[in-house]
Amino acid sequence: MPELPELEIIAERLTSDLTGLTIKNVVVHNHIVVHGLPVSDFVSRSVGQTFEGAVADGKFLIFALTDYDIVVNLMLTGRLRVISKQKRPTSYDMVSFQTEHLTLWYADAKKMGRIYLVDKGEYSQVAGFENQGPSALDPSLTLDIFKTRLKRHNGQIKNVLRNQRFVKGIGNAYADEILLYAGILPFRKRSSLTADEVERLFRAMKNVLSRIRDILSKRTLDEIAIEKRDFLMIHNRGGGICPLCGGRVSEITANRFKTNYCQSCQK
Ligand SMILES: [Zn+2]
Repeated sequence: MPELPELEIIAERLTSDLTGLTIKNVVVHNHIVVHGLPVSDFVSRSVGQTFEGAVADGKFLIFALTDYDIVVNLMLTGRLRVISKQKRPTSYDMVSFQTEHLTLWYADAKKMGRIYLVDKGEYSQVAGFENQGPSALDPSLTLDIFKTRLKRHNGQIKNVLRNQRFVKGIGNAYADEILLYAGILPFRKRSSLTADEVERLFRAMKNVLSRIRDILSKRTLDEIAIEKRDFLMIHNRGGGICPLCGGRVSEITANRFKTNYCQSCQK
């Protein structure tokens, strides 16, 4: 599942590929991902619109068109690609936006993603969009604001980090990475964290996400789409060696989500 660092780079790439291009044709190959509008309206309103850029907003991507916004939540397996050649749709292809020379393809193997065409800035019908916290990488999210927001959220600290109402953009994988660097066990109750631990958590969040963003900025859109996350230090490394201490990486799975942590580095 792409998290904020991936989505920011995807948005940058799509902005440079698509800005100024006008949509000549839209084909909905599978209507299951189209939400908020009948497919016929989704298509008729998109055609003739020009791409004005894309931004990441938490776990969403927003494409600005002339009169509308397209909002995409890629969920687990949604992928966006820009292709110049003609191609036949596969069973994974959900929607394609054709411009004169390039086509934006949205594919989704598990078909759990969602795409909306909405009036500009009108996101009330986008599931999970409202009441999100500030972006984890937003420079205006300072330590003081982080501390104040954190007090409003209870429960295990990993779940708080992944809660988009606390801060937006962090998912399962990068929450594990952040907690390793903060030296905090994922199951710790938020209320048990000391002031020093909260500060470490804040710094780890900023450092880990910016570092990953830097690594991804050197990769192609296709490389990002396949999520070859060879830079992960602890997530998906169950049974492996902790890069910080050389100890064994622990793993538990709850609600289909895997958590990896190091019993010696994290307290
Ligand atoms: Zn360790």
